[in-house]
Amino acid sequence: MKLYNSLSRHSEEFTPAGKTVSLYTCGPTVYDFAHIGNLRTYIFEDVLKRALKFSGYSVKHVMNITDVGHLTDDADAGEDKMEKGARREKKTVWDIAQMYTDAFFRDIKALNILLSDETPRATKYIPEQIAMIHELEAKGHTYRTSDGVYFDTSTFPDYGKMARLDIKGQQEGARVEKNTEKRNATDFALWKFSLSGEQRAMEWESPWGKGFPGWHIECSAMARALLGDQIDIHCGGVDHMPVHHTNEIAQSESATGKSPFARVWMHGEFLLINDGRMGKSVGNFVTLKDLEEKGFKALAYRYFVLTAHYRSKLNFTWEDLKKARAEYRNLKYAVERMMREDIAQGIVVGESSADTNQITVIKYAYKSNTDQISQQYMDEFTEAISDDLNTPLALQVVWKLLASNESNQIKLQTLWKMNEVFGLDLKTRGDFSKEVMSAKKNQAESFKKERVEAKKQKDFVKADALKKEIESLGYFVEDTKDGSILIEKD
Ligand code: AMP
Ligand code: ZN
Repeated sequence: MKLYNSLSRHSEEFTPAGKTVSLYTCGPTVYDFAHIGNLRTYIFEDVLKRALKFSGYSVKHVMNITDVGHLTDDADAGEDKMEKGARREKKTVWDIAQMYTDAFFRDIKALNILLSDETPRATKYIPEQIAMIHELEAKGHTYRTSDGVYFDTSTFPDYGKMARLDIKGQQEGARVEKNTEKRNATDFALWKFSLSGEQRAMEWESPWGKGFPGWHIECSAMARALLGDQIDIHCGGVDHMPVHHTNEIAQSESATGKSPFARVWMHGEFLLINDGRMGKSVGNFVTLKDLEEKGFKALAYRYFVLTAHYRSKLNFTWEDLKKARAEYRNLKYAVERMMREDIAQGIVVGESSADTNQITVIKYAYKSNTDQISQQYMDEFTEAISDDLNTPLALQVVWKLLASNESNQIKLQTLWKMNEVFGLDLKTRGDFSKEVMSAKKNQAESFKKERVEAKKQKDFVKADALKKEIESLGYFVEDTKDGSILIEKD
């Protein structure tokens, strides 16, 4: 399998150092909902992991949860995003960490993203982070200022090599630097002190004084604790190259004395909106929940993401999402039709059923007589995926397979095998026909209105009964600050 390595800027034949591929992916900062741009990156990483497994590797995957230390400003001058989020929501930092971690896992599940083997939280690895800073200090890579302990990037000769940073240019720009105590513009905080008078919810004792770890050290320390000094693949979004990953490399390689920290670095390109980056700080973001409220299933978004290569920018528009949804529905419908045909013709043993008023999702039990797949299309698919995860090309192979003269059984077996990489839930699905969907939805909508009325009248028995009715139609009803909304079950 060939993977594009951001370190060498080439596609390289991938072979892991050991038996199991060690994979570290930078996880979410849990101070707000993930937006669909963030989720694009997690989908890319999921496809990578699935493709590695598809190629026969076993994978140990670690994804962290950042619940402390990520500042609003990359130059270590801003506030902690977590503390800011807590103030905004008038909750404790621990509460918002839990709440947004839960929301994140809900999104991950809806998108069919496989869970990581370990999901360490930064706040659970404070001793490991302190130990690493200690090691860096002992080796002469750190210095203290009035607000923290910093990494001296001039002690790491290769600093900035991955992102090919123009260090000299950055140093010259340092005159406008806010933190005048820093020796070099690129130096970054390993440990920040709690300022006197500052009321921080998250702070720990350390050899340097009470405070909290910088954001970058958590990944270096947790990757080391769970995967070892050197790892096979490390991923994140492209924005992580110049600062976060550059700093992780500097810390890890300085502490362990081993290089490279990660043999392959992979970065997912941005999701754009109106041709600009979608970002929390930009305030132009859309969440998975927003999509679901407009009637798009999470997996339709996953399909949309797969239509672009992970290293290309992808512009989000509702129109293009609709197109992707239509294609995805066609794909699901094709699978369903092939199963139905084979069952009806007695070619395979199975069962298809719909309830009388066509409201219940149709379920199939399909027992194929063969394991046979189409080698021709499987080879084409494998070639596309092995070429740095070319999912748009792999999807074209799917459509070619469906249009081919292969039997339904062979098409289905081949498709299901390919789906191990796509993760598009193509096996167990029911009816997408519009009439059925809208009849159900209309009914659920009117029950929802009745329930709002019942709650106003304080008739909670009726409200609960209506909630159950709505659920039996395939929707969850959820009360949000903007009113009551319906979410389609899968
Ligand atoms: P954060 O929670 O801000 O640390 O971001 C989580 C992940 O999403 C990181 O890997 C980022 O690089 C990535 N990311 C942020 N914005 C976008 C975007 N617009 N498109 C794709 N990935 C993004
Ligand atoms: Zn990280």
